[in-house]
Order: sequence, then structure tokens, then C-alpha cells
Amino acid sequence: MPSITKQLKYNITQVDTGYLRPGLAACYLLIDHDRVAIIDTGVEHTVPRIQQVLKEQGLSDDNVDYVVPTHVHLDHAGGAGKLMAVCQNAQLVIHPFGSRHMIDPSKLIAGAQAVYGVQGLRDSVGEIFPVDAERVIVAEDLFRFTVGTRELQIVDTPGHARHHFCVWDEMSKGFFTGDTFGIAYPELDVEERSFIFPPSTPVQFDPTAWLASIDRLMAWHPERMYLTHFGQLDNPVLYMNTLHRMIDDLASLALESAHSGDSLGAAVEQYILQKLSEHGCQLDEERVKQLLDLDLDIIVQGLKVWISRQN
Ligand SMILES: [Zn+2]
Repeated sequence: MPSITKQLKYNITQVDTGYLRPGLAACYLLIDHDRVAIIDTGVEHTVPRIQQVLKEQGLSDDNVDYVVPTHVHLDHAGGAGKLMAVCQNAQLVIHPFGSRHMIDPSKLIAGAQAVYGVQGLRDSVGEIFPVDAERVIVAEDLFRFTVGTRELQIVDTPGHARHHFCVWDEMSKGFFTGDTFGIAYPELDVEERSFIFPPSTPVQFDPTAWLASIDRLMAWHPERMYLTHFGQLDNPVLYMNTLHRMIDDLASLALESAHSGDSLGAAVEQYILQKLSEHGCQLDEERVKQLLDLDLDIIVQGLKVWISRQN
């Protein structure tokens, strides 16, 4: 089993959240002068992993100043309430459209139970705790904050979800992108090139907004991106056109299927597998299915919701 943590440059520690399978979802600890920001949180059972990492670095829960979920989807923010409960000095930095769901997660829980079932949600995400409103910073676009002396800035990036922002880290010249700069599993790398794709997750996929958000990120001239799914991506400029094209193509596939009545699921699967083959991926079909089945399902569901809103 791969290690849970990976020490990156610029005092950034990547932690595998343990959500669903190893290598699926990461969160990141940024440290400066013994102060800590945690970007994305994973789920309830990620919290002891984060505490362990802090301990290994000679730090404790009390050193955490900020907990920063990129958006309120549960693989990114499901553990935020629990993490805030153990990190007594921390403030939660969250998008204006996400804050009420962190303070009162009842709608978030009901929505997730409808998808995963009550037991399914408990198994995958665990319990979801509310965050005290007094500890919540509602971060408007371009909000700045510092961890130790390290400068971070929030950039509003709708498209994957309206409650999504990315976090610019001046020190690494990198963005923590949540889902905005797509998904790239290291298992699908070929000769150091990543296979990247956009998760059009329900229920707020908005291709036009997403394309603009990617362009906006690139205007900062980032040298690297830190993806939640999964890990550091260098030279993001190499991937922006691919992401653009795939967002456009997925939207087109959804429109075509709405007209023709052909299966969108089959079309999306064929499209992604074709792209993967062009990428040069040599993994066998079973391994690819293991890695991508859940995402394919979510992409299709999100496209269907988007189509239903197009009238
Ligand atoms: Zn998401």
C-alpha cells in the first residue's frame, strides 16, 4: 500500500484522505513558521490522519489557523466540521455559496443520503458536523490571508460547482485547484504526461463558466497545480487546452444524446476510453474500470442534470 503522505517542496504535505480507495482524494497541509493551513479536508476518518501528520511534523491541532475546503462536495469538505472541532484555533475559509452548508449541513446530508443511502454515506464519508458560524470566514473573490508569513489568495472559479474557489499560494506559484483543473490519477500517467479530465459532477456543472475559470487561473501564470484528485501537476499550461476541449466535448455529447435518445453513458465511456488510448495508456481494461468507473458515472449524472436545465 502506498504511503499516506507525500512531502512536496515549499513545505507542502500531501495527505491521502482515505476516501473510498488509496489515491482517490488528497488534502494538503501548508506550513510556515509553525502555522498551518489545511486545504480540502477529506472526510471524517481523514481527521486522525491529519492529526498524525501534524504530530510527525512536531506540531499539534492548535497550530492550525485555517481549514479551507475548495468547495462543499463531501470528498473535499465532508470532514471540515470534525476537523474544526479538533483544531480549536482554526477558522474555516469558505466560498459565499458554501458557507451556509458548513454552518448547517442538514441539506448537504439529505442530498448525499439520497445518492449514497444512509448507510452508504456513513461508510464512505462518516458523520458530518456543523461549523460554528463565528469561526467561518466567508471568502469573496480575491480574499487574501496569511499563514505564518505565507500569502494565500482565494480565486472564485465556478463551473464544476458555483461554490468552488481555488487557492493561490505565492510561495509555490501554485494553485490548489480542488476539481476546477480536472482530475489526473498518477496511475494513468504515461512518460510523465498526465491524463486529465473534467468531472462534470451534479448538480451545478456549467461549461461556459468552467472554461472562463480555467482561463482565469492561467492568468496567474501558475507553475504547478495541486489537484485533490490526485497530487501535484507541473506545467499546467500543457493541459489547459485539453481540459477546454473535453469540457466542450462532454457538453456536446450530452446535447447529441438528448436529441438522438442514444445512451449518454455509453457515449461518455467510449469518449474517455478513446482519449485514454490516444494518451498511450497501457493498463488493462479491468484496472482502468477500477480507476474510472465512479468518475464516469458521476460525469454522466452531472451532464444529465445540466441537460435538464437547458430548456
Ligand atoms: Zn467536486
